[in-house]
Amino acid sequence: MTVVSEQAPERAAEIPAYRAFHVRVLRTARLSPSFVRITFGGEELSGFADNGFDQRIKLILPLPGDRFTPLGDGADWYQQWRALPVELRNPIRTYTVRAVRPGQGELDVDFVLHGDTGPASRWAIHAAPGHRIIVVGPNTACPGPTGGQEWAPPARAAHLLLAGDETAVPAISCIAESLPGDVRATVLLEVPRAADALPLNVRPDVRVTWLPREAGRHGDLLIPAVRDALGEITAAGGRCPASPESTALLEDVDIDGEILWEVPHAPDGGLYAWLAGEAGMVKLLRRHLVQEAGIDRSSVAFMGYWRLGRSETG
Ligand SMILES: Cc1cc2nc3c(=O)[nH]c(=O)nc-3n(C[C@H](O)[C@H](O)[C@H](O)COP(=O)(O)OP(=O)(O)OC[C@H]3O[C@@H](n4cnc5c(N)ncnc54)[C@H](O)[C@@H]3O)c2cc1C
Repeated sequence: MTVVSEQAPERAAEIPAYRAFHVRVLRTARLSPSFVRITFGGEELSGFADNGFDQRIKLILPLPGDRFTPLGDGADWYQQWRALPVELRNPIRTYTVRAVRPGQGELDVDFVLHGDTGPASRWAIHAAPGHRIIVVGPNTACPGPTGGQEWAPPARAAHLLLAGDETAVPAISCIAESLPGDVRATVLLEVPRAADALPLNVRPDVRVTWLPREAGRHGDLLIPAVRDALGEITAAGGRCPASPESTALLEDVDIDGEILWEVPHAPDGGLYAWLAGEAGMVKLLRRHLVQEAGIDRSSVAFMGYWRLGRSETG
């Protein structure tokens, strides 16, 4: 599964919205059984735009032998990459900026360790100070918007509902920690283990619940938790009734062939829901919110971050 929507602004602008940053691992910190925080360092990071929220980046991982096929610095790096023979294509994966300190030349990314099954997880397991990687991220020199963020709540939402699995923990954590004091929010995070509940620095009206699935399947805990939260939010008057058109049958998305991704322009005043994680789980969550609970579909943003059994293919 690939998200390359940042390509459009790159092509349009003279100064690319996204550019490559050549960095090295400075340090690693094992946060919990499933998360490792990798701090990258490099002088180039002084030009990395600190946009916050769910800022996504691309990581270009080394080929065996620490090889990186040159792609040039232009806005067409992705097209160049696609034109390469498969054996010369460095794996590319999508991640979230957990924190960036451009002044110190540092960038934190929180990796889910899901085993030796994919190049990114494998790389993160073995990452050590000095290891090289290329981060494609927002360019502070770009005069316009750099893109790569999907957090777009209405100016006056009555209640925010943020729900996701472990891959969305970095994005949801950044968003939740930036919410202003007058916003009511429910944050539901399904993670592999109880010890994966990480400390979050949120304001008192932001209610955070960690849901350790242990031996369960993705969504087993998150789906009922979203259902319960919706009941509570409704009881407290935090949602608007949906218009009849908005609850019409949702079109089916083939999550094994297409990207499950929609960030609608949400109306003011009611509930705004933001869902991210494994695509099958996100699809069920969205269906529940819109078709069963009758939430206006334009108030539900949903993003399939990865798909069980399928590699992100660059
Ligand atoms: C916008 C966006 C932001 C993201 N931010 C983050 C982030 O900050 N941190 C993070 O860890 N992930 C994040 N992800 C998810 C990450 O891109 C995927 O998990 C990715 O597939 C990992 O690449 P890989 O090389 O390890 O595995 P792949 O080669 O893509 O997949 C190999 C196998 O592993 C499975 N797999 C992939 N991810 C997982 C997982 N998490 N748990 C169990 N099995 C898995 C696949 O289904 C496949 O069978 C984000 C995704 C998107 C789209």
